[in-house]
Amino acid sequence: MEIEKINVRGVNISNVDIDEATEFIKENLKVGIQTAVYTPNAEIVQLCINDADFCKLINSAELVVPDGVGVVKAARILGTPLKGKVAGIELGERVLEAAAESGAGVFLFGGSDESRTPSGVSVADQCKKVFEEKHPGIKIAGTRHGYFKKEGEENNETLRLINESGAEILFVCLGAPLQEKWIAANREKLPNVKVFLGLGGSLDVYSGNLKRAPKLFISLGLEWFYRLLCEPRRIGRMMSLPKFYFGTWRCKISGKKSK
Ligand code: UDP
Repeated sequence: MEIEKINVRGVNISNVDIDEATEFIKENLKVGIQTAVYTPNAEIVQLCINDADFCKLINSAELVVPDGVGVVKAARILGTPLKGKVAGIELGERVLEAAAESGAGVFLFGGSDESRTPSGVSVADQCKKVFEEKHPGIKIAGTRHGYFKKEGEENNETLRLINESGAEILFVCLGAPLQEKWIAANREKLPNVKVFLGLGGSLDVYSGNLKRAPKLFISLGLEWFYRLLCEPRRIGRMMSLPKFYFGTWRCKISGKKSK
């Protein structure tokens, strides 16, 4: 399946709606084409503008969906509109539905370990339970929390766990840019895995530990604002947003597509 990519400030974003993104993933899973799926929002695109190596890494992915209205608005301002936002958290749900249908195993990697949750159960294990109840027939092949050194012995142990689980789909939920860098560095060492999804803090939401923004906020394009209210520590990261918007208008006025 051929997918058009649209250059938004140097990042090649796949021009898909959620149905097309899901179809692409299902098809690659079926045929066995290893596929990395990244879900950048405006903060991450700004990170790419500041860091050419990270930008290259994002652009190397098979599917890059716009997980934020900021990216969609920027594409429109630049005169090359995208079909719309594809929320990573919703795409993750679609992939789970597809996995339950096809029998492909899913491995959940990331989130807090048992020592950091009130229930004493890691976030990934909480999600396993939620998914097994919500998607009958789903095979959660394994889980691993995300708090360890992402290289050396502990990382090798994680790779071994994932390989031995037989999972074909891997949710990597470490936050950006850590998760994308981890996928790029480790995908070749995980030959059984066909689909890698970088889904940020999604496990916190699927597990019920964190609420997603109410529909009204989402429909007004204010999901980012709700997240800021719930997690004020995000303010530092969000300081990059004004820079992103001003930069986009500067590109529009000067007729440049990127930077
Ligand atoms: N996380 C992790 N290991 C780390 C750092 C972060 O597993 O070393 C997890 C963290 O528990 C959280 C997610 O990664 O669940 C990051 O969530 P955030 O909302 O910051 O990511 P975003 O969706 O904004 O990329």
